[in-house]
Amino acid sequence: MRAMTQELHIVGGGMAGSEAAWQAANMGVKVVLHEMRPKVKTFAHQTGNLGEMVCSNSFRSDDHEQNAVGLLHWEMLQAGGLIMATAYDRRLPAGGALAVDREGFAQSVTDALRDHPNILISYEEIDTLPDDGQWIFATGPLTSPALGEAIQRETGSDRLAFFDAIAPIVYAESIDMSVAWRQSRYDKGETEEERKAYLNCPMTKEQYEAFIDALLAADKTEFHEGETAGYFDGCLPIEVMAERGRETLRHGPMKPIGLTNAHKPEEKAYAVVQLRRDNALGTLYNIVGFQTKMKYGAQASVFKMIPGLENASFARLGGIHRNTFLNSPTLLDDQMRLRSKPNIRFAGQVTGVEGYVESAAMGLISGRMAASEILGKTMPSVPQDSAHGALIHHITGGAEAKTFQPMNVNFGLFRPLEGLRGGRKGRRERYKGYTDRAKEVWSAWLAEQGVDGQAAE
Ligand SMILES: Cc1cc2nc3c(=O)[nH]c(=O)nc-3n(C[C@H](O)[C@H](O)[C@H](O)COP(=O)(O)OP(=O)(O)OC[C@H]3O[C@@H](n4cnc5c(N)ncnc54)[C@H](O)[C@@H]3O)c2cc1C
Repeated sequence: MRAMTQELHIVGGGMAGSEAAWQAANMGVKVVLHEMRPKVKTFAHQTGNLGEMVCSNSFRSDDHEQNAVGLLHWEMLQAGGLIMATAYDRRLPAGGALAVDREGFAQSVTDALRDHPNILISYEEIDTLPDDGQWIFATGPLTSPALGEAIQRETGSDRLAFFDAIAPIVYAESIDMSVAWRQSRYDKGETEEERKAYLNCPMTKEQYEAFIDALLAADKTEFHEGETAGYFDGCLPIEVMAERGRETLRHGPMKPIGLTNAHKPEEKAYAVVQLRRDNALGTLYNIVGFQTKMKYGAQASVFKMIPGLENASFARLGGIHRNTFLNSPTLLDDQMRLRSKPNIRFAGQVTGVEGYVESAAMGLISGRMAASEILGKTMPSVPQDSAHGALIHHITGGAEAKTFQPMNVNFGLFRPLEGLRGGRKGRRERYKGYTDRAKEVWSAWLAEQGVDGQAAE
């Protein structure tokens, strides 16, 4: 395929590709966004929409002072990011997390890109790495097999795979509200709706023990030979957590703290299963942290042991998924270009970041980099002390290439701040120090490029 000069081709309209297209188009570059869905499907995506969330409907913590993901939210919003602006528009009550109505979110992202005068959407699969033109490949964890082979031919690296898992979704009407109650942990939230964002299902010690037994005994899908298991941390399968110790779940997604049973305030639950709203209508709830690789038949019977879910009907059961990512430290330069073919950039999860937010953030940067190159401008290097900079630095050089695995944004990727107290006691002050410093350098970096920044929440 021959690309026209001054046009940017972006392959994949997920979190990264959508954000990259938006950024480049807003900088005045003509963009062709190639998306294979709905013609070619993946086993996790359900629609032909751009920006579809394949698992949780949460962009995780929205705390931009104490949390690195929240800081990425802030930075993206300042940069006029489409994914974040749409997330705030489509926000659902979820305590301190930024959760969204997934269908409304993807529809709004699709509409914004379709209506942009500089963007053309082409629904087709791309299965080669072109020799000319400017390209960004943002094909994600489920990169189509044909393209995966083309990438392998070019890079010579083995493709790495690991499993991820989807949490089941329950129809709200099938939840027994004489057992479950509405409450966010520690009643967190600004409004009454926020404080009651979750549905809680309590368990006694006996019920918890029986549940753990059932989880351990359930039929599971086996790993394929040669595949290494390396789960997305926020999506660790529930039965794997149970295998790590009978109490693990009680200290993880099933922890009972900060919750009081509205039906029986005097009874302290031994464990609590939480469900979070999955759509704006409030008709669907996902079971928080219950990603699983149990077989479908086993899932239905095990989850119906949860008090309040005895008659649950499931809109979607959990599943297992593959992830495709490059060994970026060896393959990409600091402009996210393929060293062997610099007309090609990569962005998103395929570069070895992990998560919706991180993927969109890498799309934001690569879109700006490619647009600057096309426009003949020199983009100032992304400040390493920003959350975006910390991630890019990690994947394009900071990480150990031999043991490279996908990475979430976290304060461990940030350069240490001098003069601040270490350990748990100094944590709040340290995190505030990191986020203050990041905001300053990020705002300056945007200003250098003529971006004013918007008022972040
Ligand atoms: C099962 C599963 C569950 C996950 N759960 C979570 C979660 O709960 N939270 C979280 O933060 N992250 C989760 N992730 C990771 C998540 O997929 C990424 O964080 C995010 O979607 C990656 O964004 P992306 O733009 O890189 O890829 P995607 O959003 O997947 O977008 C890639 C796009 O490229 C298209 N495409 C692929 N190949 C081609 C081709 N050859 N030609 C044209 N188009 C192509 C695809 O159709 C897709 O639209 C999960 C991943 C999987 C697989």
